[in-house]
Amino acid sequence: MSRFWTDKIASLDPYVPGEQPQDKKYIKLNTNESPYAPSPKALSAMAAEVSESLRLYPDPNCATLKNALAKNYSLNANQVFVGNGSDEVLALAFMGYFADGKPLAFADITYSFYKVYAGLYGIEPKLIPLNDNFDIVPADYQNLDVSGVVVTNPNAPTGKALPLTDIEYILKANPDVVVLVDEAYVDFGAQSAASLVNQYPNLLVVQTLSKSRALAGIRVGYALGNSELIEGLERLKNSFNSYPIDRIALAGATAAVEDETYLQEICEKTITTREQSIKDLEALGFHIVPSATNFIFVTHPEKDAEAIYLALKEKGILVRYFGKKPRIGNHLRITIGTDEEMAALTSVLKKL
Ligand code: PMP
Repeated sequence: MSRFWTDKIASLDPYVPGEQPQDKKYIKLNTNESPYAPSPKALSAMAAEVSESLRLYPDPNCATLKNALAKNYSLNANQVFVGNGSDEVLALAFMGYFADGKPLAFADITYSFYKVYAGLYGIEPKLIPLNDNFDIVPADYQNLDVSGVVVTNPNAPTGKALPLTDIEYILKANPDVVVLVDEAYVDFGAQSAASLVNQYPNLLVVQTLSKSRALAGIRVGYALGNSELIEGLERLKNSFNSYPIDRIALAGATAAVEDETYLQEICEKTITTREQSIKDLEALGFHIVPSATNFIFVTHPEKDAEAIYLALKEKGILVRYFGKKPRIGNHLRITIGTDEEMAALTSVLKKL
């Protein structure tokens, strides 16, 4: 350990991102990226932005993008916040809304970054177990003495979604704290709580362009909420880094958000491939959790998940293995790729 480290840095337990190996070209089914190219309109908008205009700072308010998002969700632009990936939006929300001394409620199996932010801001996690079927149980989210609640819908890495009635139940059970609904994967088959934003002043919906919009490479995420919650995030952002995204990302993200037809097209393709992959893997004896996302969470009753992960990697296919953890230690999370990529996966698995 460096002697320059403070106790604070030494105590951090940072997130370990999924592998992004640069040694050779893998079939990448490990970090839930889209196998499809971004919208052609987004690519043209970004190419056009590569010009002398890059000598100027971007719009700190991201007005074009906020207007496009507000239009899509029938909200006002002051109900939209933009960040450098939804990870940054989550980080600011945790800092601003959950670091008040009380624990923060979230599921025991969910996106592992929440524990990292909690550690960073000294927030104690109040972990709420999933049931035996990996479901979030809304009744477990009442009578909590917490600073806030995070619900991942659909959840990751399980892939299961809650209906909006369950989200409303959790919102009503926790009217005095912010309920953050992380909808990173919502476009692949779940219902968005964005339609509830005007009804519930404690609701903050967080989404990303990294998955369904195929733009993980430009790092854009956003939050939707009542204008006061959004204003709070703006105050935090402007106390930290006033320019959340660069000119190229702003141009690409705006064009992508305006291209709803392309979004529908690639989500439908992913869903069709997902359902076929589920059938193919079930035929090989895998058990698969029902998925409303662009990934599937699988286990084989007779085979070791780590061994499968290593054998696939050897054959140039990357999937996500989480290590020997309780409950999910023999599971793998497999991102839905193209039909060809999934056929390559099935063919290797058949031989194992
Ligand atoms: N939320 C969940 C549930 C995720 O799985 C991810 C992606 N790892 C994110 C948020 C963050 O996505 P991004 O920062 O790319 O927007």
